[in-house]
Amino acid sequence: MAVTRNRIETNLQAIRQQIAEACQRSGRDVGEVRILAVTKSVDVETIRHLLDLDVLELAESRAQQLVSRAEEIEAVVQRRRKPLARPVKWHMVGHLQRNKVRSVLPWARTIHSVDSLRLAEELSERAGKMDIQADVFLQVNCAQEQQKFGCAVGAATHLAEMIVSMPHIRLAGLMTMGPTQWDAEETRHSFIRLRELLEEMHKEGIVGPDCNELSMGMSRDYPIAVEEGATILRIGSAIFA
Ligand SMILES: *Cc1c(COP(=O)(O)O)cnc(C)c1O
Repeated sequence: MAVTRNRIETNLQAIRQQIAEACQRSGRDVGEVRILAVTKSVDVETIRHLLDLDVLELAESRAQQLVSRAEEIEAVVQRRRKPLARPVKWHMVGHLQRNKVRSVLPWARTIHSVDSLRLAEELSERAGKMDIQADVFLQVNCAQEQQKFGCAVGAATHLAEMIVSMPHIRLAGLMTMGPTQWDAEETRHSFIRLRELLEEMHKEGIVGPDCNELSMGMSRDYPIAVEEGATILRIGSAIFA
């Protein structure tokens, strides 16, 4: 899909307005909330508009597409006459198979979808071999849906404890997705559950103060996520509608 730069600019303005209003309702500072642009449904031309608009935190949900997009955008950045204010930063937000870790890490060092011990171990091992530190989020299935990705709520604390002990990954925070079937109240419950989980982990001393991010909220539910404490919104379709 291709979207014009004007369209994207208008949509971003509307989204930022919604975020500001949600912050006001909940007594939060807008500076605490970042937007990731999820580019899975648009073409590279459209991603170039994002760069022009200074939207430099980008996300993909499939490993292969992340790598090919990141490579193409890297070439675009190299050719630009006007240098970017900051480097582009890619985030992996979708389910990640262990055998894809090696290809993804050179392009995305922030992984939002860590939901098993084995994936975390693979990430730490690969990051160590590359001599880098990867930032990870523990994905929790707060909606408690059967076939969904994310660890069970009851397993989250133990997993977080294990991840924190791994040498080459840093636990940045927790991530969740609202229920598949749209329901505002259920969605809010999921987000509250994630925030409370992080609060509990802090209280019990399982994670340190620098593990403080909540990656939650997509196009349909980001105002609710902001009200419930989100620090990173993963937004796709609302930017490109
Ligand atoms: C696609 C996707 C998003 C963005 O979804 P939109 O509804 O397009 O905003 C966020 N997070 C993940 C994990 C996704 O796969």
